[in-house]
Amino acid sequence: MSHVFHRNSNNLPPIGMKGDGVYLYDTDGKAYFDGSGGAAVSCLGHGDQDIINAIKRQLDSMAFAHTGFLGSQPAEDLADLLVKHAPESLEHVYFVSGGSEAVEAALKLARQYFVEIGQSQRSKIIARRQSYHGNTLGALAVGGNEWRRAQFAPLLIDVSHIGPCYEYRNRRAEETSFEYGQRVANELEEEILRLGPDQVMAFIAEPVVGATMGAVPSVEGYFKRIREICDTYGVLLILDEVMCGMGRTGTLFAAEQEEISPDICTIAKGLGAGYQPIGATLCSGEIFNTIKNGSGFFQHGHTYIGHPTACSAGLAVVQKLTQGGVVEHVTAKGQQLLDLLQQEFGRHPNVGDIRGRGLFVGMEFVADRGRKAVIDPCHKFNSRLKAAAFDAGLICYPMGGTIDGRHGDHVLLAPPFISETHHLEEVVSKLATAVRKVTAELGM
Ligand code: PLP
Repeated sequence: MSHVFHRNSNNLPPIGMKGDGVYLYDTDGKAYFDGSGGAAVSCLGHGDQDIINAIKRQLDSMAFAHTGFLGSQPAEDLADLLVKHAPESLEHVYFVSGGSEAVEAALKLARQYFVEIGQSQRSKIIARRQSYHGNTLGALAVGGNEWRRAQFAPLLIDVSHIGPCYEYRNRRAEETSFEYGQRVANELEEEILRLGPDQVMAFIAEPVVGATMGAVPSVEGYFKRIREICDTYGVLLILDEVMCGMGRTGTLFAAEQEEISPDICTIAKGLGAGYQPIGATLCSGEIFNTIKNGSGFFQHGHTYIGHPTACSAGLAVVQKLTQGGVVEHVTAKGQQLLDLLQQEFGRHPNVGDIRGRGLFVGMEFVADRGRKAVIDPCHKFNSRLKAAAFDAGLICYPMGGTIDGRHGDHVLLAPPFISETHHLEEVVSKLATAVRKVTAELGM
């Protein structure tokens, strides 16, 4: 038995000992390809000496400062760099320690903004079903993942959910992709009107849905329509890029590809690339100035906001991501990964959909490809796949999500940006070994 609380399964996985490039090693020296980077975290692989040296330098000069000095040079430099490359509306950065904290800060920023402008009745948030925004109670309340929410209900804040943009499952045969996107985006308008436009403060969504759906991008025009609706009703648009941001989809911010600018944006995971825990909430000048000129300060705070060492890691990461064609490499390798998966699984009877953007790729498993029937949850397909892939030396991120109230299985791949063609071939080949094993075991 382990005394580490989260190592609580009966079948304890090995302990990780070493990371090097795209590989992690257990205590027996077995290598595992880090095909999901944790959960889309380790974007630059393991053992990157530039990032490690930046952290060491910061530790040597000042590991931490808080009360008295609410600032440090790495935090200043990282905020400058992020704002320089962020969608144009985003002008200020609030540093936290991870994704859930970034979402909590986003929700409180939106709330305080409306209180400051004398619209405190605006307290309702609209989010999407099958989304994930974190595990703290506020973030869980906006998340649309029923099984995670169920036992903690009633949750703390007033949230209603509309449908996701999920073309594979929900586009009608008579619709084009564009028409489908407009129809589901219009659900937001219907929900705002149902709740009362003067009651709604924000809409939150992931540009590319990660953990709960397996890298599902929206269709063209969807987010432009969402932005339009938010503008019409004065509702703030929060984009949660905790998983899909920081170059993962082929641009530093995923919103760039939607050609829209949110009012608030959350990032984490790839920002620290696993070298330090760090997240951030970026917001518009309008929100920042309203609060600054109103009560004067954002009524929020954690002990580790703007942690200098975490910011030094984030700075080294974002410097790498914004120099030397890294994100362009992500676009090219992402296409290659999709092509390889198509070659291997494109006709597989149990693979319904292969999708993604950049090196953020998902594959959805089905019992029957023609009918898109989900696999019976009692088969525990995703847990079996995770174990089989692990045996084969591949760490991937299989999940059993919920599809319209039914169970559905997918795998999420988020390999490091340093992956080359032979690495991607290795990922696909190991995944194929694992899929063969599981489908044979289940007689599929
Ligand atoms: N938001 C999104 C989109 C996520 O994918 C996650 C984590 O997977 C979170 C928020 C929460 O981040 P963290 O686990 O760092 O608290």
